[in-house]
Amino acid sequence: KAGLMAGKRGLIMGLANDKSIAWGIAQALARHGAELAFSYQGEALKKRVDPLAAQVGSNMVLPCDVGDGTSIDALFDQLRDAWGSLDFVVHAIGFSDKDQLRGRYVDTTRDNFQKTMDISVYSFTAVARRAAAIMPNGGSLLTLTYYGAERVMPHYNVMGVAKAALEASVRYMAEDLGKDGIRVNAISAGPIRTLAASGIGDFRYIMKWNELNSPLRRNVTQDDVGNSALYLLSDLGAGVTGETHHVDAGYHVVGMKAVDAPDI
Ligand code: NAD
Repeated sequence: KAGLMAGKRGLIMGLANDKSIAWGIAQALARHGAELAFSYQGEALKKRVDPLAAQVGSNMVLPCDVGDGTSIDALFDQLRDAWGSLDFVVHAIGFSDKDQLRGRYVDTTRDNFQKTMDISVYSFTAVARRAAAIMPNGGSLLTLTYYGAERVMPHYNVMGVAKAALEASVRYMAEDLGKDGIRVNAISAGPIRTLAASGIGDFRYIMKWNELNSPLRRNVTQDDVGNSALYLLSDLGAGVTGETHHVDAGYHVVGMKAVDAPDI
């Protein structure tokens, strides 16, 4: 196969349906010749992931609950047995109790704080360690984050605190794994209508606000994120690690939007 990803094999974690950010990334990688495996959480999702995987030429669809170390071990054992080595991993996974993705951050419970940090932050570290062990030729690891890590966004709450920790973990792992030629980066995506996003309070309003106030005056798409992921996961991004790359139509640079109508 020709393309930027020709000869590269990788794992996509967090595909739930065709609205998932993981799907935008998988399609961009497949278009450029990557060979893909997918992991899914829970049997119910398998029947959704199987046909999507088939569309991008993959029949490697493996279970993994990232809240469980033995489940992650089993996944990477299967990948090692099938492929021997790995070139990239996409971690597009997050979780928090949706009752706490509205209202006040200060009301976050200890249980949900720990669960949110475990699934949304530690899981990337747990995955990175196992992935690195089967990357003898170097590799590229990518996770997904959001601007709520840097600034207060409505309803993002404990997820914002978790994403801040996730971005810090990207920097620490970039240093740990850089000597082995393994790069670690995050994409900070603008709001996209997905299953996970539907749990966030006032999400429609947040989408509209971003559309009206970002420099590009639009929201980003799954394909926008997919194409930027292609850069970070391919050799185009060979000099980039530890980075949180914003794919958000520029929203994060704006302090105050210019008035569009000059006579106001
Ligand atoms: P999605 O619902 O399609 O994907 C979330 C995935 O996380 C699902 O596939 C789900 O099965 C998986 N997951 C949750 N708990 C898991 C567990 N214990 N083990 C294994 N998998 C588990 O939603 P999405 O919006 O595509 O989310 C992907 C990533 O993108 C998340 O990290 C999210 O925070 C991030 N993100 C989303 C947006 C947005 O607006 N949609 C913006 C920025 C960042």
